[in-house]
Amino acid sequence: MSYVFNVAPVPSVPVKGNDSRFPVRRIFCVGRNYAEHAREMGFDPDREPPFFFTKPGDAIVQDGAKIPYPPLTSNFHYEIELVVAICGGGLNIRKSEALEQIYGYAVGLDMTRRDLQLSMRKIGRPWCWGKAFDNSAPMGEITPVDQCGHIDKGRIWLDVNGERRQDGDINQLIWSIPEVIAHLTQSIALAPGDLIMTGTPAGVGPVVAGDRLCGGIDGLASLSVSIVDPTYCGDGS
Ligand code: MN
Repeated sequence: MSYVFNVAPVPSVPVKGNDSRFPVRRIFCVGRNYAEHAREMGFDPDREPPFFFTKPGDAIVQDGAKIPYPPLTSNFHYEIELVVAICGGGLNIRKSEALEQIYGYAVGLDMTRRDLQLSMRKIGRPWCWGKAFDNSAPMGEITPVDQCGHIDKGRIWLDVNGERRQDGDINQLIWSIPEVIAHLTQSIALAPGDLIMTGTPAGVGPVVAGDRLCGGIDGLASLSVSIVDPTYCGDGS
């Protein structure tokens, strides 16, 4: 097989205790999966069925990276999230089989152009330009299940410039991870390499160039990124 130009590198995330990396296929995200966050976004957190949106795999940003402030926004938000890394897959996975599909867990950020998301939603257009854009998925090191077990509780937090902005617990998820996997696979077949961002607790807010974000979840490797000027184009520039 040959291609008309060189194939782009496979996006990937480091794995704790392993020299091999986790190759990323797709990124699925759950909307409004913590009641306090649903309320701060102006919604009633009744148990409406979970809903999903996606980001491209190449939106991944490595721990420690600098993120240029993105175009088309003046309200660039952080959302700290527990990320589930999938090594199994299939369609119509039952809740009882869901945990077997999980390779490990990581800390991620669902970076959001909030102004664009809300203006698109208001006029009935897709949200995707508010959610799926370059550098919109900072992702920490994946801890394999055999090192951290399955995660259904534990503190989740985000600091901006050393100040706590988000502080929740994984046990506040409206839809548990097995429920999320069961619902998601009613729509699509999950596959090895897929990541699921499971939603953010309350406290989302804006960042600007110069800000440093540091987030964590009990038992997992932390994640830090910095926001830099939009003209930044890599180390050495
Ligand atoms: Mn989110």
